[in-house]
Amino acid sequence: MSDESHHRHVHSSADPACLEIFARLSDYLDGELTAADCDAIQAHIRDCPPCIDFVASLRRSIEAAQHLGCEERPAALSAETCERLRAAWAESLRRRGGPA
Ligand SMILES: [Zn+2]
Repeated sequence: MSDESHHRHVHSSADPACLEIFARLSDYLDGELTAADCDAIQAHIRDCPPCIDFVASLRRSIEAAQHLGCEERPAALSAETCERLRAAWAESLRRRGGPA
């Protein structure tokens, strides 16, 4: 396989703030952030439809994992789940940048 390292920016239209939200989201959902960090994330999410969708999908995935009953508290999403969510989120961000 020719796995070239594409330095393509998947998040070309993404807000730096959105990227930061994404980086911290799993900690946020695990309740591991400080109140100030949570407030910052919630304030951003309120005004950012792609992030709203993303958080909703993430929560659904976590709930689905809980319903499987394997773990009482799913500490981490699987890499596959994370990747799928990240792709969906990036796509939402791209759509936001498109024609209204
Ligand atoms: Zn956002």
